Amino acid sequence: MLDAVETSRDQAGPAPRRQSVAVSVGGVVIGGGHPVVVQSMTNTDTADIDATVAQVSALARSGSEIVRITVDRDEAAAAVPRIRDRLERIGVNVPLIGDFHYIGHKLLADHPACAEALAKYRINPGNVGFKGKRDTQFSQIIDIALKHDKPVRIGVNWGSLDQELLTRLMDDNAASDAPLSAAAVMREAIIQSGLLSAERAEELGMGRDKIILSAKVSQVQDLIAVYADLARRCDYALHLGLTEAGMGSKGIVASAASMGILLQQGIGDTIRVSLTPEPGGDRTREVQVAQELLQTMGFRAFIPIVAACPGCGRTTSTVFQELARDIQESIRVSMPQWREKYPGVEALNVAVMGCIVNGPGESKHADIGISLPGTGEVPAAPVFIDGKKVATLRGEGIADAFKEMVADYIETRFGPGASARRSAS
Ligand code: SF4
Repeated sequence: MLDAVETSRDQAGPAPRRQSVAVSVGGVVIGGGHPVVVQSMTNTDTADIDATVAQVSALARSGSEIVRITVDRDEAAAAVPRIRDRLERIGVNVPLIGDFHYIGHKLLADHPACAEALAKYRINPGNVGFKGKRDTQFSQIIDIALKHDKPVRIGVNWGSLDQELLTRLMDDNAASDAPLSAAAVMREAIIQSGLLSAERAEELGMGRDKIILSAKVSQVQDLIAVYADLARRCDYALHLGLTEAGMGSKGIVASAASMGILLQQGIGDTIRVSLTPEPGGDRTREVQVAQELLQTMGFRAFIPIVAACPGCGRTTSTVFQELARDIQESIRVSMPQWREKYPGVEALNVAVMGCIVNGPGESKHADIGISLPGTGEVPAAPVFIDGKKVATLRGEGIADAFKEMVADYIETRFGPGASARRSAS
């Protein structure tokens, strides 16, 4: 018994990654054990080239490794190669994915420059065409993808599920001796829609290394069940995401809860957090949330993490909250330059703590940490670097002095010559 307990204690961490077939999307590899890729989608009218270039570049610069754009009509399809050119001219090489519904086969055939400029086509099998036309239009898109040597994402969405398939499964279920719930039949229809379309794409000559699957629903428990099942039934690379995750904290919590559980089970090769932006809100928030999800779970590191205590009655001043916010913000703003200048800086841990109870202990575990004085404590703030107390800050300028120490620490540990210094010591 003790052995079992010791073994489980020893095994904190995710399950091994599910084996999936790697797919290269414009040079960004999804699946095959590669790091989970962060992706996002624009909400501009793609025909508005200026607005789309600006948003794609903001998303890419905030860390989106591939960006999807809507291609819904001729004007949008005609704009795609021009958007690609403009992005390249400003040094943004992020792969662009085309999101097609209803007339994708026609747009891709009529705009070969668009078909070429895109790095992947997203097809929704629920609305690629209806009745007799469905197979033909799906085949046309696959043929164009083959001709241009592009991968596809077969992206099922429960809001636009193939109604013929759903009706057939509902009828079969009703005639069965042990019928499943309507929700279970719906989940099965979502999974089958993706798998049958992928099978069809393979019959048309598409390799498994060119197919990514997604099966999006809007409820957390449904998403977990659908992807767990899908993961068991195929080895295609999987794109995770809730559809219509929602606005603000609701969307963030729902996305983190559902995708966190799946990632912990080793499922998922690329993620998108589909947040509804606040009016006038920043679209890059979805990228930030996706990165934070992967980083807090220990899968990838994108930006130094600032650990801060929640505060309580022992600290009535707002100094530590302000310092935590200032440090996090200055890190976020500095990251584009730091990535170039300080390789490895994304793994840095900073702690900003509010009082003596947990402050020194937590600060010692960070690379650099400060324990601010709580109410009634001596107005002194010990600073710890690599587990050792190196200074005690006092007076009005504690916040600025600590920010300077963080900057010095980054320069020393990650700056030019840091590796030479490490090997000499
Ligand atoms: S470290 Fe101090 S101020 Fe922060 S939550 Fe703990 S007891 Fe409260």
